[in-house]
Amino acid sequence: MKWQPEAIKRELIQAAKDLNIDKIGFASADPFEELRERLLRHRELGYESGFEELDIEKRTDPRKTLPEAKTIIAIALAYPSKMSDPPRSEPGKYRGVFCRASWGEDYHRVLRRRLEGLKKRLLEMVPEAACEIMVDTGALSDRAVAERAGIGWIGKNTALITEEFGSWVYLGEMITDVYIPPDTPVTEGCGDCTLCIDACPTGALVAPGQLNAQACLAYQTQTKGFLSPEYRDIIGNHLYGFDTCQLVCPKNRKINFTHQEEFRPDPEKVKPLLQPLLTMSNREFRKRFGNMAGSWRGKKPIQRNAILALGHFRDHTSVPLLIQLLQEDPRPVIRGTAAWALGKIGGPEAEDALRQARDTENDPDVLREVDEGLMLLKEDQRSHNRRGLG
Ligand code: SF4
Repeated sequence: MKWQPEAIKRELIQAAKDLNIDKIGFASADPFEELRERLLRHRELGYESGFEELDIEKRTDPRKTLPEAKTIIAIALAYPSKMSDPPRSEPGKYRGVFCRASWGEDYHRVLRRRLEGLKKRLLEMVPEAACEIMVDTGALSDRAVAERAGIGWIGKNTALITEEFGSWVYLGEMITDVYIPPDTPVTEGCGDCTLCIDACPTGALVAPGQLNAQACLAYQTQTKGFLSPEYRDIIGNHLYGFDTCQLVCPKNRKINFTHQEEFRPDPEKVKPLLQPLLTMSNREFRKRFGNMAGSWRGKKPIQRNAILALGHFRDHTSVPLLIQLLQEDPRPVIRGTAAWALGKIGGPEAEDALRQARDTENDPDVLREVDEGLMLLKEDQRSHNRRGLG
């Protein structure tokens, strides 16, 4: 029996329900012309993160991935925005936090499984169909595809916003050479609202829908080098990702869907104690965090951010551990960040350790951080004296 395009679409919509997929939409596989222009401007302005596919043609033309492509099937899965019983930070037991898109099992795996289910159903109907599955790391822009497929619209914060689940959704897609009638893009939008642009602490949303990824704290939490000094105070206790532009969005108000079991957060994993993170072996890290999306850059950025968070909390109980890192860790980024945090926290032990490091440290980047730490101590001492406490 030869399946008609409308019937294939109906069957896939049913399969999506059976597979516990929250939204499915269909788009033509024509090139994304408008997006190409936008990406070129974006590159010229230096706003790329460096994590994206370099070939802009590949990012905007589905036929570069699958030459006979006719349709892109887009899906969305909702993820929770709230923890039911989050553990609290308390003195000596401060905690860091992973962004919501990293709660539960790595969404790349979960969405791929769901898309494999759809592919199976499509192949039952059209055995000769060619299919290519993509989740986030594929060449295409998941958001542009989802918008064209009627899943939602791209908000001024650059997130894809759905009517039912707000922007708390993961996106994935499958390109196929089977023709399936396309859906109509959503016409709703942000209107006059600019809350996300106003709330962004670094001004990374340079214009509605335009993000300078280099200034975005979500991106900065994933870098492996020293975090630029201008971001160290505002990063707070974020270990991975940054949700502010989604948290302030009125379209996300009171939205918290927990029906996708894989995405339910383990509070001890998504809000872990900071100090134990600093002494974790690679093996322990992989065992504990390896199935989370937020572990993809490895242990170092998470540890660097944990040290910054201890500085942010001015956690005096962490001073011995930070001194140990400053003296013994083989990674300059970790030694240097520990020096900065010691300067931030202060106290005689921190000062002694920084002065000692001034004589023993050889790495110029770490020495710069040691000097910065000593300067922070001096500033702190001055303001202490001004307040008449010295
Ligand atoms: Fe749009 Fe307002 Fe949400 Fe920003 S906060 S994405 S402007 S609705």
